[in-house]
Amino acid sequence: MFENKDQQRTDLESLGEFGLIDHLTRHLKPIHPSSRTGVGDDAAVLRHGQADLAWSTDLLVEGVHFDLAYTPLAHLGYKAVVVNLSDICAMNMKPAQILVSIAVSNRFPLEALEELYKGIGRACEVYGVDLVGGDTTSSNKGLIISVTVIGATRVGAPVLRSGASPNDLLVVSGDLAGAYMGLQVLRREQEVFRANPNHRPDLEPYSYIVERQLKPEARTDVVELLEKLEVTPTAMIDISDGLSSEVLHLSKSGKVGCALYEEKIPLDPTVISVCEEFGLDSTTVALSGGEDYELLFTIRQEDFPKIKGNPNLSVIGHMTEAESGCHLITRGGAAIPLQARGWNAFSQEG
Ligand code: ADP
Ligand code: MG
Repeated sequence: MFENKDQQRTDLESLGEFGLIDHLTRHLKPIHPSSRTGVGDDAAVLRHGQADLAWSTDLLVEGVHFDLAYTPLAHLGYKAVVVNLSDICAMNMKPAQILVSIAVSNRFPLEALEELYKGIGRACEVYGVDLVGGDTTSSNKGLIISVTVIGATRVGAPVLRSGASPNDLLVVSGDLAGAYMGLQVLRREQEVFRANPNHRPDLEPYSYIVERQLKPEARTDVVELLEKLEVTPTAMIDISDGLSSEVLHLSKSGKVGCALYEEKIPLDPTVISVCEEFGLDSTTVALSGGEDYELLFTIRQEDFPKIKGNPNLSVIGHMTEAESGCHLITRGGAAIPLQARGWNAFSQEG
């Protein structure tokens, strides 16, 4: 019944992460009315009585998503929780519970796992979420962490990726590209340390971006801010892969186009100077870098006065008719088609 008669072998790399998910799940459509969304949003939305519940899960694999040479275990535990909470924020909801599963090799002593759980506990404390279960097993090699998160809100309130209309404004929270540049600094210091183990890195000038990489935060504060400002986004996503990839998700799901203005992309001064130091273009890093865990959303034009001048929010573009496509409008006024060059789990570069 499950035989592959042709003995075909297709490289996963040729599909990419999203192509693969789409390929594997395209025939599996939800049958329960309580399954409000299927595959394809930041979290699944399930109706339960008078509430909508959002569920999301993420898997972190040693050597793929983190390198323990420069990631302290407590930071890893904190980050593993935060990246999941971010997916609930991306539904304009607040997280409430988490489940944590780990697969661990005998390379790790108890003390190492205690450190990991120190970070997990800290994230629970900071964000007011409860750890309510999980699973523990052994692995042949390395550490694997899976976190599942649940949030609840009133029926109909979750903001999906698909709700944008032409002329809606495109808004992003915080600033971008810091996490990627923090990673570049950490990798460079690791190389120097390998060559000279007496080397003591001075990360002080890079503290903002290193923190963005090692200790990202989920923007629950932005969800609360939007509630206070009485702004309900029409569509929303969090920035895990890079601005470009997330804009394309909003466009594809909402069947709209987008004009994104290069000069409007918010960048911290540290990011600009470190990009110069590394000879990288800061716009390219913001578009493709990823792991910033900021929120990207669209609002109706009439809501603009409510967010105008807010230091946490930047309007970076607007949505257009689908036929116009998705473009970056450069400082020079050129329109360049946006491409998803985000992090790809199956590419050689990783
Ligand atoms: P995010 O970057 O927001 O965490 P992902 O890119 O991991 O989202 O996943 C995109 C969508 O695909 C989500 O709705 C997720 O639930 C779904 N998905 C990812 N992997 C699988 C899988 N192996 N089987 C079914 N659905 C999946
Ligand atoms: Mg997401």
